Amino acid sequence: MARIMIVSCRKIRDVLCVACMKCFKGIDERAGKFERYKDEPLELVALAECGDCPGLVMPKLALVNTLAKSMGRDYDVVHFGTCVVKATTTAACPIDITDLAEKIKMAFGKEVVIGTHPW
Ligand code: SF4
Ligand code: SF4
Repeated sequence: MARIMIVSCRKIRDVLCVACMKCFKGIDERAGKFERYKDEPLELVALAECGDCPGLVMPKLALVNTLAKSMGRDYDVVHFGTCVVKATTTAACPIDITDLAEKIKMAFGKEVVIGTHPW
């Protein structure tokens, strides 16, 4: 059983990427970056926004982790949504996604995957 959480772009989520249906479809079909879970059950534990520009991901994740533990709903992998990837590669998102992935690994001991659905 893989347990994941997704970090999304606050500017894109439910505005340009409506209702997060693309990531739910991707999880269901094991498409895009979810293909790595094709041979095992996959549970989406949390779907959080980045905290808005300039990207308050570390304090947001600290809160998510505290809540996840207190509810007995811990997770192993952080996915940066395709929304965050698009924001950093096609717009003026200030997040350095590679650097932030390293910080998350070091501070929280979570695996980090950059991306989610393929659409
Ligand atoms: S990429 Fe995924 S997490 Fe981000 S807004 Fe779209 S569906 Fe939601
Ligand atoms: S910091 Fe990046 S990911 Fe977060 S809202 Fe701003 S553009 Fe989106």
